[in-house]
Amino acid sequence: MARKVSILGATGSIGQNTIDLISRASQEYDVVALTGASNIAQLAQDAIALKADVAVTARDDLLEDLRRALDGSGVEAAAGAQAVTESAARPADWIMSAIVGAAGLAPGLQAARQGTTLALANKESLVCAGPLLMETARGAGTKVMPVDSEHSAIFQALIGEDLAAVERIIITASGGAFRDWPIEELAQATLAEASSHPNWDMGQRITIDSASMFNKAMEVIETREFFGVRPDQIEVIVHPQSMIHALVGFSDGALMAHVGPPDMRHAIGFALHHPDRRHLPVERLDLAAIGQLDFRAPDEVRWPALRLARETLEAGGMMGAVFNAAKETALDRFIVGGLGFTEMSQVVAQTLDHMSTHCDHIDAKMTLDNVLQVDHLARKAAKAAAVKRAG
Ligand code: NAD
Ligand code: MG
Repeated sequence: MARKVSILGATGSIGQNTIDLISRASQEYDVVALTGASNIAQLAQDAIALKADVAVTARDDLLEDLRRALDGSGVEAAAGAQAVTESAARPADWIMSAIVGAAGLAPGLQAARQGTTLALANKESLVCAGPLLMETARGAGTKVMPVDSEHSAIFQALIGEDLAAVERIIITASGGAFRDWPIEELAQATLAEASSHPNWDMGQRITIDSASMFNKAMEVIETREFFGVRPDQIEVIVHPQSMIHALVGFSDGALMAHVGPPDMRHAIGFALHHPDRRHLPVERLDLAAIGQLDFRAPDEVRWPALRLARETLEAGGMMGAVFNAAKETALDRFIVGGLGFTEMSQVVAQTLDHMSTHCDHIDAKMTLDNVLQVDHLARKAAKAAAVKRAG
C-alpha cells in the first residue's frame, strides 16, 4: 500500500528536496496535503504533478489565484493559517514539518497528534515550545524524526547506544558567510553578503541565521529538546567543510562522528525511510580529494548568539519562545534594512532582558495559547528595541 505523506512548507528549500525524493518513487507515495505561502505557481505545479488531495496557501488573499492554478486538476484548494493547520490533521503516515519560523508551530503540533511519523525540520517549534511538542508526540505515539543535518547525525550516532552513556554532543557549524571577516567589519555586512552560504543551499532566513550563528544557537536548544541532554553537555565546534555534521561522545571517551556531503536530502531521506536505509541520490565523499577537515573553537565575541542560547536554556520556561520571536523580529528588520547585522543579537539580548523582568507569562504553563501569547509580547518588545536603535 502506498504511504500517505503530507509536506508542510512544500515550496521551500526543505519542501522541494522532500518532493525531489518522493518524485523519484512516486508510486510508493500517496500525497495528501502540500502547503505553501506566496509561491502559488510552484505549489500548484507540485500538487498537480504529485496528485495531492489538497494544496493550501497560508495567504488568504491568494485563494483565488490558487484555485485558478489548480482548475480542472481535481486538487482541492484552501487558504489561511487555519487551513494549513487543518491540513496537518488529514490522516497521513508521514508528515514533513518544513514551514519556516514560529508559523510552523501550530501545524507541527497538529501533525504530532496523529500518532504516525513527524519529520521535523521546523526547528523554531522546538526552540519556542520543545517540551509541548515532544510531549504531544509522545502522548499520541508519534515518532519524531529530526530533519536538521546535525540532529539527524546525532540520531544516527545514537542508534543502538544507551543514552546514559552519552557524555557530550558536539554539533558542527560551518561559520557561515562571515567566518573569516574581520570582526570590526561585521556591523557593515549587507543583506546580499549575509544571504550567501559557503556550503549549503538553503532558504534565505536560515542562511542569514548561519552567518549570525543564530541558526547554531537554535540548534543547541533543538539538541536539548530533542535528546534531553543537559545544556552543559552540548558543544559547538566550527568546522568549515561541513562534512562532519555532529559527534556524540561516550563515557569511554569514544567519539562517533557522522560524515556526509552537505545535502539535506540525506537527513530527509533518512527520516523518510527509517528504520530502513535506502539508496539516496547524494554525492559519495572522496576523502582523499577532500584531504583535510578543520576545526576551531567558536568565537563568542564574533557570534554572541551562542551565549544568548545558553542564557535562554538556563532561564528555562518559555524563554525559548522569547528567544525565537526576538530573533525572527530582528531578522525581519535586518532583511527590510532597518537594523544592522550585529544589531540583531543586541535586539535579542535586550528582549530577553526585558521579558525576563517584565513578563509574568514566561512562567505560565506551556500551552499553545501561552506560547503564542509570549511570542506576541516578545515580538512587540523586540520591535520597540529595534526602533529605538534606528531612532
Ligand atoms: P524556505 O524559506 O525555503 O521555505 C519555507 C516554507 O514555509 C515555504 O514553503 C513557505 O511557503 C512556507 N511559509 C513561509 N511563511 C509561512 C507562514 N507564515 N505560514 C505557512 N507557511 C509559511 O525555508 P527552508 O530553508 O526550507 O527551511 C524550512 C525549515 O527547515 C526552517 O525551520 C529551517 O530552519 C529548517 N531547516 C532548513 C534547512 C535547509 O537546508 N534549508 C536545514 C535544516 C533545517
Ligand atoms: Mg542544521
